[in-house]
Amino acid sequence: MSQVSDNIAKIRETLPERVTLVCVSKFQSVGLIEQAYAAGERHFGESRVQELVDKHRQLPSDIHWHFIGHLQTNKVKQIVPFVALIHGVDSLRLLDEINKEALKIGRVVPVLLEVHVAQEETKSGFSVDEMADLAPLIELNHAAPVLREYPGLNICGIMGMASNTDDAEQVRREFRMLATIAKNLFPHGGVLSMGMSHDYPIAVEEGATMVRIGSSIFGER
Ligand SMILES: *Cc1c(COP(=O)(O)O)cnc(C)c1O
Repeated sequence: MSQVSDNIAKIRETLPERVTLVCVSKFQSVGLIEQAYAAGERHFGESRVQELVDKHRQLPSDIHWHFIGHLQTNKVKQIVPFVALIHGVDSLRLLDEINKEALKIGRVVPVLLEVHVAQEETKSGFSVDEMADLAPLIELNHAAPVLREYPGLNICGIMGMASNTDDAEQVRREFRMLATIAKNLFPHGGVLSMGMSHDYPIAVEEGATMVRIGSSIFGER
């Protein structure tokens, strides 16, 4: 067994069935991604548009590519044709742009709204208050909620990051806040993308349905 498949097996043992594992392959080689693919993984996450486009071209077409980085509006159209899920949409301007490019090619693009709950200023996302303002826009009684103004988008849940701290209770509080927001906005069940290598066990305990794990699978970047 390769180191990568060994790491994946260990992580998989700890994940409940409801949780989708997104293997964060940013800055990692195509060869290492192929090892994860051989181990059965099909969800990969990238944080740079050019890298995502290149890897999408080189790797098997049944991979679900997740964009997990900060997306610039001028690069949206490069990934809209194939991306499986855009995590971390953090502005109405970006929603507008993804919607526009999606409509051009007749696609409905799945996206997650990023919510800022961490103490750090550096992390992006809508504030908890802004999320409350967005709520009326979301058609709650729709099985797959869509923002009325955005027919090119499927807003299927939220994404967030906890503070980068050793204080496990603070991390837990922040994940719990995200879970509460997700439950309010998506009462019929939505995607809740939270948890990375160092904090995903807490995220899973607090209800994550998707975890984004990089270094614990592929090693340090
Ligand atoms: C890099 C990254 C991850 C993965 O981080 P690891 O600590 O390597 O697991 C998860 N989410 C986002 C948004 C990232 O940028």
